[in-house]
Amino acid sequence: MRLSQGYWQTLKETPNDAEVVSQQLMIRAGLIYKTGAGLYTLQPMAFKTYKKIENIVREELDKINCFEVLMPVITPAELWQESGRWDAMGGQMLKMKDRAERELCVSPTNEETVTDLFRRTVNSYKQLPVCLYHINTKFRDEIRPRFGLMRAREFIMKDGYSFHNDKDSLDKFYEEIYGAYENIFRRMGLEFIAVEADGGNMAAGGAKTHEFQVVADNGEDYVVTIPRTKFAANIEKAITVRKNIASAPAAELTKFATPNQKTCEEVCAAHGMPITQSLKSLVMHSVINGKDQFFMVMLLGDDSLNEVKFKNKVNAEHIRPAQQAELDRLGLVKGFMGPGTTAEGFKVIYDEAIDMNASYVVGANEPEHHMKGFVPARDTKPKHFRADMRLAKEGDYIGDDQIVLKKGIEVGHIFQLGDKYTKAMKVTVLNEQGKGVTPLMGCYGIGMTRVMAAAIEQNNDKDGIIWPASIAPYDVYLCFIGKTPETKALAEELNSSIKKAGLETLFDDRQLGPGQMFKDADLIGLPLRVTLGERDYLATGEIEVKIRKTGETLKVKKDDLVPTIK
Ligand code: ATP
Ligand code: MG
Ligand code: MG
Ligand code: MG
Repeated sequence: MRLSQGYWQTLKETPNDAEVVSQQLMIRAGLIYKTGAGLYTLQPMAFKTYKKIENIVREELDKINCFEVLMPVITPAELWQESGRWDAMGGQMLKMKDRAERELCVSPTNEETVTDLFRRTVNSYKQLPVCLYHINTKFRDEIRPRFGLMRAREFIMKDGYSFHNDKDSLDKFYEEIYGAYENIFRRMGLEFIAVEADGGNMAAGGAKTHEFQVVADNGEDYVVTIPRTKFAANIEKAITVRKNIASAPAAELTKFATPNQKTCEEVCAAHGMPITQSLKSLVMHSVINGKDQFFMVMLLGDDSLNEVKFKNKVNAEHIRPAQQAELDRLGLVKGFMGPGTTAEGFKVIYDEAIDMNASYVVGANEPEHHMKGFVPARDTKPKHFRADMRLAKEGDYIGDDQIVLKKGIEVGHIFQLGDKYTKAMKVTVLNEQGKGVTPLMGCYGIGMTRVMAAAIEQNNDKDGIIWPASIAPYDVYLCFIGKTPETKALAEELNSSIKKAGLETLFDDRQLGPGQMFKDADLIGLPLRVTLGERDYLATGEIEVKIRKTGETLKVKKDDLVPTIK
């Protein structure tokens, strides 16, 4: 784009109602315009980026043989009534009536639409598996639309839906789409984590679901990772896992075990909760809640009963300074550690725990006691890691293992739906024996417009956006300083040769002062800025190339420009 003939407005001031950096920068850089609450116009440069995002998504989905369709934005109520979601969707669904009083809605998602399409067009197992996707507008009347494109009411989603003859096929495709999502977000230059999500009832049947979270301070979600065990889940799922472990009776805990996981430590490790971790979670739980009675027993292999007599005291020797400091800071001298590996020793400690109205007794080291480790003290209600953990700061670090708590922006979500919709909407396909069977489904979403905001949340500095190269609206910001016809002609020549090399330029020929041009260039954050300075060029024959990300500048001769930046 040639700016002298272009359409682009930037703002000097940060708008008052823009809360997060991506929203502030997108408004200042003239990328989006707020048409109404949660309703945004994508200005030309944002739309260019959007199309690059679409392209990446399309290429990766087409690679795994997904088929693109375009379903309507408005859908009839009957489909939603069939699935039972016309009422269940609640206030987020925008409903309306047409002139014949037929009820309709603006789709918040499209499971019903695609399931209906599938049942009318596919009838044999031979046509499966199949995955249909579309990229289309959604409307959700979010209670709190905010943060610009991050939580809008109208937004663009890529939603895909696959249909399968059996669970194996669904599982196999799930791996493929998981891989495609990794490629998609990697190609967009994002730092992301795929985390286990909570599938609610559906997950009970072994259904898998993952969210793709872009790590960013302004994210609305929390993700929990434990680097050592490679556990990664969103906070809701982490709490569920934690609850399942903490509330299970000792015998039940073995259910979490796979055949070669014998100790509770291994069992818990498999669920991202090694026993040392559970101790830490409990400390954290106590620290966060600030009021729970908290009792902790560390079985150190020394079974001398004599040592089990430090009621209501912290045995500082066994608490690491960092833990002690945290407990002290909160006035929570309620941790308790003691040795004791025999059953008798354990009982003494146990009784103490009950006296103290402790929430938990936790064991470590000896396998035979490990099972006890997660039993809530008798007569006390188990209190679990609760959503209060949300208050915890990133990387609360206790002991050797690290729970890493980060904020994330959910940019993608993949989900094994099983037969939820196909059953409700009475879909069958004929199997090999000619008998009607219910196919299984998966659904796969990407927040196409949210991704843009997420990319900026992750890539910016005090001067503006730093676009990942693959989704930048243009590749090069080309500008010149000087007013002579020779300089203008040379700038034109550079513009042509850069474009000929296959790079897109934003050509700043507005003849503004360098201050204004450089400010705009930094704000819009294209990967490279090329500056032809009349005075420098006449003196040295050199042109300046600035890398937006690193701030590094290079001086190159005219003929070296294209090879350097390509
Ligand atoms: P959230 O938890 O942020 O409300 P969701 O879990 O309700 O999202 P899904 O139903 O999983 O969203 O939809 C698929 C994708 O659509 C999400 O992963 C997200 O990237 C995007 N998305 C959902 N709601 C919005 C919104 N209000 N604005 C922009 N993008 C959205
Ligand atoms: Mg939502
Ligand atoms: Mg979500
Ligand atoms: Mg989701």
